Amino acid sequence: MPERTLAGRRALISGAASGIGYAVALALAERGARVVVADLRGDAAQVAADQIAASTGAEVRAVQEDAAVEDHVRHAIAETARLFGGLDILVSNAGRQHVAMIEDFPVDTFRAIVDLMLVGPFLALKHALPLMRAQGHGRILHMASINGLVGFAGKAAYNSAKHGLVGLTKVAALECAADGITVNAICPGYVDTPLVRGQLEDLARTRGVSLERVLEEVIYPLVPQRRLLDPREVAEYAAFLCSDAAAGVTGQAVVIDGGYLAQ
Ligand code: NAD
Repeated sequence: MPERTLAGRRALISGAASGIGYAVALALAERGARVVVADLRGDAAQVAADQIAASTGAEVRAVQEDAAVEDHVRHAIAETARLFGGLDILVSNAGRQHVAMIEDFPVDTFRAIVDLMLVGPFLALKHALPLMRAQGHGRILHMASINGLVGFAGKAAYNSAKHGLVGLTKVAALECAADGITVNAICPGYVDTPLVRGQLEDLARTRGVSLERVLEEVIYPLVPQRRLLDPREVAEYAAFLCSDAAAGVTGQAVVIDGGYLAQ
C-alpha cells in the first residue's frame, strides 16, 4: 500500500465506474482519502465503490450522476459534502468519444460531447469552488488529453472540448490561486481502457484486421514507447497532484503519453 498522503481528504470523481476514473478513485482511496465514485451508470458506480472499499478499507460511496447536467453535478457535490463533511478533491473525468470527419459529424453529437467534457467541468467548478474557498483548501483535476494540446483528424468534438478544458483549467487556477486551491489538467496519450479498446475494435472491424494489427500499424507508430499506458500510471500522477506536496503546481496541463508529444 502507498503512503497515506491523502488521509482524511474527501474526493469526488466523475466517470469513476471504469477506466482512468476507476484507477484514480482506487489510488486516492489507497492513500487514505474518502471517495465518492460518480458515474452515469449508477449500478456500475456501486460495484466500483464496493470493490475499492473492499481492497483498500477506505470509505467509498457511489452516486449516479450525468456529469453534463447541472442538477446532477450540484447533487453529487452536495452529497459528497453531506457524507464526508466537505470536499477537498474534485476530479472531472467523465468522457466519451465520437470519430467522424467534420462534414459527417452530427451536430447533436458535437454539442453533447462539448456539454459533457467542457460545460460539465465548468459546472463542477461553479458548485465546488465555494466549498473549497470556505475551507481554504482544494485540489481540482481535469482529465484532458494530448488531444487538448494537438489536433487529431476525425475528433472535432473531443479536441474542441479538451482544448477548451485546458483553457478552463488555466482560468480556474488563476481565479483561486490565492485560496489554497490548485487546478490542473492531466493530458494522457493512449491508455488501455474500455473507451480506447472500443475505438480499436471499431478500427479493426472497419479494416477487417485483428486488434493487434491495429495496434502495430496505427497506434504504435505514434507512440515511441510502443505501448498503451496503464490507467494506474495516470492515477499515480493524479494522486501526486492531489497531495500537499503538489501545492505549488497549478494551472498546468501535465502530459503522460509514452513520448507521443516529444516528436
Ligand atoms: P471509459 O469509457 O473507460 O470510462 C468513462 C466513464 O465515464 C464510464 O464509466 C462512463 O459510464 C462514464 N460516463 C460516460 N458519460 C457520462 C456522463 N454523461 N456522466 C457521468 N459519467 C459518464 O473511459 P476512459 O478512457 O477511462 O476515459 C476517462 C477520461 O479520460 C475521459 O475524459 C477521456 O477523454 C480521458 N482520456 C482517456 C484516454 C484514453 O486513452 N483512454 C486518453 C486521454 C484522455
